[in-house]
Amino acid sequence: MRSLVRGAASSLFRPSNQFRAVSSVPAFINGTFSESSGTQFFEVRNPATQELIAKTPQSTDAELKDAASAAQKAFLSWRNTPVSVRQRYMFKLQSIIRERTDELAAILTKEQGKTLDDAKGDIFRGLEVVEYACSASSVLMGETIENVSKGVDTYSYRQPLGVCAGVAPFNFPAMIPLWMFPLAIAAGNTFVLKPSERVPLSSMKLAEWLNEIGLPPGVVNIVHGGKPTVDFICEDPHIRAISFVGSNRAGEYIFEQGTKNGKRVQANLGAKNHAVVMPDADKEDTINMLCNSAFGAAGQRCMAISVAMMVGEASAWIPEIVKRASSFKVNTGSEPGTDIGPLISPEAKKRVIQLVSQGVEEGATLALNGLDVTVPGYENGNFVGPTLLTDVTPDNVAYNEEIFGPVLCTMNCDSLDDALATVNKNPKGNGTAIFTKNGATARRFQYEVDVGQVGINLPIPVPLPMFSFTGWKGSIRGDLNFYGKYGLYFYTQVKTITSRWKDEAKVAKLSGAMPTL
Ligand code: NAD
Repeated sequence: MRSLVRGAASSLFRPSNQFRAVSSVPAFINGTFSESSGTQFFEVRNPATQELIAKTPQSTDAELKDAASAAQKAFLSWRNTPVSVRQRYMFKLQSIIRERTDELAAILTKEQGKTLDDAKGDIFRGLEVVEYACSASSVLMGETIENVSKGVDTYSYRQPLGVCAGVAPFNFPAMIPLWMFPLAIAAGNTFVLKPSERVPLSSMKLAEWLNEIGLPPGVVNIVHGGKPTVDFICEDPHIRAISFVGSNRAGEYIFEQGTKNGKRVQANLGAKNHAVVMPDADKEDTINMLCNSAFGAAGQRCMAISVAMMVGEASAWIPEIVKRASSFKVNTGSEPGTDIGPLISPEAKKRVIQLVSQGVEEGATLALNGLDVTVPGYENGNFVGPTLLTDVTPDNVAYNEEIFGPVLCTMNCDSLDDALATVNKNPKGNGTAIFTKNGATARRFQYEVDVGQVGINLPIPVPLPMFSFTGWKGSIRGDLNFYGKYGLYFYTQVKTITSRWKDEAKVAKLSGAMPTL
């Protein structure tokens, strides 16, 4: 008898033949793929069909320790590998990802559900971080100043930390692991990655490619599981830093545990992103962008717009939003022309239905109901169609929870002042957008809004990797952001050297006073 663990809950069960037949996802330790000797598994199911496609093991303690010590051992030589050589591995990784995007996208769609086009976007946004890692050396440079005192120079280096670890969510199976390990290893660290137990297969394909490009064994390692793996990462003394992306519940726990154990932690958390729609905005363009952002990826993006603040006469646009949203095609992600694939799990679908229903009970209007959509041929899929809740108020559950489904809430407000007050009061601050034709309105919004990533006439303002991902308030814990120069700062520590080469003719005077240079 085996034990099946699903999320936090676990239940004993008698394994079916199908479960036995499905292969266990291997760990990737010291360059080798090895089957876990663990006895607890998470199911990986195709969200469009419920077909069991893999089982993710809970890595055993011994396997977790092996991964951390492989990374620790590899660090000794990897940190001595010249930065330009480390970058060349990134060039090779860049090329293989680009050439084989379709192969990875097919895996990603099968395990996560998003459409093939969206899967390619997921990979591409990760690829851009790999491209940034190809030139990491320009950010890794330290600073120098000569003659801080006569014959004395001061200079600094950015040195790697050692072993770094990553804990990833389910919604971007390629992009988020690629936010993490490429920059960490380009900076000279080694890495232990824990992909989401719900979507481990995309990371495993990346691991195969790391072997193909000849990355030395142990530089990147992959382990699996749920909380026990996370607890190991928070406690293991080899691990110096943790990159986390996921929910507030898990991220706040990891931030607390990791920092308590003296580790650096950068944690990107949940969101509630508002769009402020001014009545002077380009109506058609704005409605298209709102719908793409709210319903794309079935709303399972941390930067999805989930609340539209309709200012003044913009509140009359609801019928057109309904019309546009109704035209989205819901189907399995592998079907060409699909706009919205399934949610990750039946539990996720149930939660969306529950929150929307409760939102209606609390006074919101269900202007478009996608809750009971069925897709012919995929009746078991976790599909929810575009759903619009209007007249939502700040005390409504649909406003206060991150629904993480294709649900757009609209709120009416009288002025930009009202809209700004609501956005700024929200505890989350990941992203926001304003739609307007007025530059002064946009300028005021960008300056006054208490949110870290702002779009002007575009809805998902995820910065490219020459910048960093800069969520604010309850959407982040830690100070150094993901990717960009702050990402490289996170994975390095500054060593500052003050040096004096004795001139044979001059001998220092004896003095116990603090040097004032
Ligand atoms: P999740 O928090 O459930 O899982 C993320 C990771 O944490 C997984 O690897 C999981 O195994 C682990 N985990 C889950 N519960 C844990 C616990 N109790 N203790 C320790 N570890 C735990 O998140 P998810 O559902 O996979 O992802 C969706 C969430 O991620 C949403 O809230 C979304 O907004 C957020 N997200 C944020 C960003 C961002 O950059 N801000 C990006 C993507 C996703």
